[in-house]
Amino acid sequence: MTRHSPHILRESQPLRLGISRCLLGEPVRYDGGHKRDQFLVDILGKHVEWVPVCPEVEAGFGTPRESMRLVDDLAEPRLITIRSSNDNTNVMRRYAKTRLQDLRSLNLSGYVFKKDSPSCGAQRVRVYTREGHRLGNGKGIFANAFQHMFPLIPIEEEDRLQDERLRENFIERVFGYHRWQSHTMNGRLSKRALVSFHTSQKYLLLAHSRHHYQKLGQLLANAQPCTPRQLATLYGQLFMEGLAVKTTVRKHRNVLQHLAGLLKRQLNEIARAELHEVIHDYHRGLVPLNVPITLIRHYVKIFAIPYLQDQTYLNPHPKELLLRNQV
Ligand code: SF4
Repeated sequence: MTRHSPHILRESQPLRLGISRCLLGEPVRYDGGHKRDQFLVDILGKHVEWVPVCPEVEAGFGTPRESMRLVDDLAEPRLITIRSSNDNTNVMRRYAKTRLQDLRSLNLSGYVFKKDSPSCGAQRVRVYTREGHRLGNGKGIFANAFQHMFPLIPIEEEDRLQDERLRENFIERVFGYHRWQSHTMNGRLSKRALVSFHTSQKYLLLAHSRHHYQKLGQLLANAQPCTPRQLATLYGQLFMEGLAVKTTVRKHRNVLQHLAGLLKRQLNEIARAELHEVIHDYHRGLVPLNVPITLIRHYVKIFAIPYLQDQTYLNPHPKELLLRNQV
């Protein structure tokens, strides 16, 4: 029987990401400019469907417009125009409420926000006093409302995606969330389907958090009092929390050694030694993660080992993104 590749592209739901519209190169900023991001547009854009949003233009402030900043309160700042001191907070909040309802129906798998914006900044946006003194950091009004409504959806700011590890982690979470969405939306809410999903995520989870992998296992083992939907929701929360825990070289090495152990019977002595050497080289920083993974994937394909073929750890996102060539 021909088995499917464990690749994410077999999932049927389109993978949609929200994005601050100016990052796609559209001239929607207060000064009529844009902040086109080459990686997002030219590389990630080939693998996802963008849902562009410019809260300030869509709320009716126009382009060009007077620039705004956050004022007064770190947790619940006001959105005030800098020159004329107009308070646009309520207009933005009303807009956000409606727009977020629209976005709910699109089943987004992630969102990339423009940093520092009083509307789109997802963290560390400057907040000032009315007199213009720095008060501290807060969140853009729209980005904050988004995070409240969709706490599980992975978000990042474009600037942080310049960091290779943060980029890999964000995209891994996006594709992980998309797999979970596709899985639960296709009506596969039974405990059995979740157990099968959990099995295929084992090594991916272990590379992030053994604790979460075990807790998810316990959740499924003690699922009796939950309805299938409750179970899927609890699973999704814990699953995304687990993927948000950072991977380390050591955790990857442990997972790779475990996978090498599962291939022991199929490999001869020379192949086993070579695989261990490559894992060791990765641990010493001589080769990127992609090198041992490619070798293991090669053996899994040749020997057609079903349990390993289904492991998303070996193929969590499109290889064209080259994310594991740098970590
Ligand atoms: S940061 Fe947000 S509000 Fe500002 S121009 Fe970009 S998309 Fe529009």
